Amino acid sequence: MASVPPPPIPPQLSHSDEPSSKKTRIETKTIPTTKHSQRQLHLAVAGCSHGEMDYIYSTLAKMERNRGYKFDLLICCGDYQALRNNADINTINVPHKHRKLGTFHQYYSGEKVAPILTIFIGGNHEATGFMAELPYGGWVAPNIYYLGFASVVQFAGLRMGGLSGIYKSADYNKNHFERPPFNNSSIISAYHVRSIDIFRLKLLETTKKPKCPMKMPLALKRQNSWH
Ligand SMILES: [Zn+2]
Repeated sequence: MASVPPPPIPPQLSHSDEPSSKKTRIETKTIPTTKHSQRQLHLAVAGCSHGEMDYIYSTLAKMERNRGYKFDLLICCGDYQALRNNADINTINVPHKHRKLGTFHQYYSGEKVAPILTIFIGGNHEATGFMAELPYGGWVAPNIYYLGFASVVQFAGLRMGGLSGIYKSADYNKNHFERPPFNNSSIISAYHVRSIDIFRLKLLETTKKPKCPMKMPLALKRQNSWH
């Protein structure tokens, strides 16, 4: 669990009661909030974050200065790499040359505070041990929230679902059996999507298909609309 005390969930981000590097790609979307709202909502969406939180936040700060507004929310779509310390590097399934601590640990320790409320899902390059501690999601640092294997949150009138991991048919119908210490097999299967989580998301009445998959920035661009 995080050593920093998790901040209380602000009223604008809450769980639904229903079942539930520099190559980082960032896209933004401005959408009107509900008809009663007084202003638009400014969302930023990043693809693989790869532990480059400093780079992402500084890029967004520049965009804010250029555009004259503040982002309300940052959504990170997988490969977030919430590495708390050097020990966590041993729980991430990436080639040795890509094993870098990144900058998340500074936000975890409290040395820095995320300037924008951030939510993320897991991809296939994550701190598996840390993520396994939060199967249903939770605060990993002040202002940074992990959605867990699959869950739904509400923010400023938007309802957003997240599904972590990648699809692998051989593990799809298994349970989440992986526990630390991970071996060469379980450190990989731990991030494979499970049918139980798809089932939970399908129970959501207004959900036609799982939202916020790992490739969401591409989907957003293609569809040019927010669902
Ligand atoms: Zn990636």
